[in-house]
Amino acid sequence: MVAVSIDGKKIAEEVNQETAKEVAFLARSHNVQPGLAVLLIGDNPASAVYVGMKSKKSAELGIYSEKIVLDRNATQEEVMAVVRKLNADPSIHGILVQSPPPPQIEEKEIVRTILPSKDVDCFHPVNVGKMLLGETDGFYPCTPYGILVLLEKSGIDPAGRHCVIIGRSNIVGKPMMSLLVQKAKGANSTVTICHSRTPDIASHTRRADIVIAAIGKAEFLKADMVKDGAVVIDVGINRIKDVAAPKGYRLVGDVAFAEVAAKASYITPVPGGVGPMTIAMLMRNAVKACRMQNGI
Ligand code: NAP
Repeated sequence: MVAVSIDGKKIAEEVNQETAKEVAFLARSHNVQPGLAVLLIGDNPASAVYVGMKSKKSAELGIYSEKIVLDRNATQEEVMAVVRKLNADPSIHGILVQSPPPPQIEEKEIVRTILPSKDVDCFHPVNVGKMLLGETDGFYPCTPYGILVLLEKSGIDPAGRHCVIIGRSNIVGKPMMSLLVQKAKGANSTVTICHSRTPDIASHTRRADIVIAAIGKAEFLKADMVKDGAVVIDVGINRIKDVAAPKGYRLVGDVAFAEVAAKASYITPVPGGVGPMTIAMLMRNAVKACRMQNGI
């Protein structure tokens, strides 16, 4: 079997077009514009690139965006003051603080200061709890949400299937588990979650109908760890040295793509798989936040 490569860029573009239509509808029928604030603390180059991408995509879709950059030596109180100001600003419906902040900043406290109704990243315990309870009036975290949409738009229904997730982070693995296990359309999956203390991970992944790798270890998942016809979703983004590449490195996922693709039914590439979905879902969440705050 040679897997179908799931085109995350194309699916993200579809989601973005739906979002742009919603933004146009909100302007036309309700005279409101979704607003997203992105707060960057410090000058981490990778974070600056992510923030730039989010602002650019907001502008493309007609979402008002505000980028706030604080000095890398900003204090906890300075960051909290910015968040409180954004909480009170009616033109801002979604707030996100780019992770990771500098070491003097207590991220947990910042996340808990963001109003749950504006927490479009779904890091606030209220939204995490709602997601686990299967309540739909909060937000879903952008990467796992994007994976649900990738599956749905590729015609893959997780219902009744065994999903094995490798990785238990609060950003990817745990929310992925809680979304897939829900008694809901697009979920209803039987879920196993593996992590660094799981012995013999291959014994789990070999039984999986759907494997989701989110560990940050280059090409960890090999062909002998998946069964024929499995669906393989690769969340990992890893730099590996490549002297032939213009930058001296290239990006690979947590899956050994070529060998696993020869065995799987569907697979996501890196780059161009899960990655583009994350920003698309953030934009969708910003529009949802705007709707909810305006009672639409
Ligand atoms: P993380 O917070 O570092 O968590 C990694 C998880 O993998 C942990 O649960 C860890 O187990 C587990 N793990 C690490 N090594 C392992 C091993 N050898 N065997 C089994 N489990 C292992 O990472 P993350 O934030 O979830 O991100 C994971 C990857 O996805 C990274 O490459 C990241 O860059 C990428 N990512 C991509 C997107 C996107 O938009 N495409 C978004 C988020 C993350 P323990 O809990 O036991 O330590």
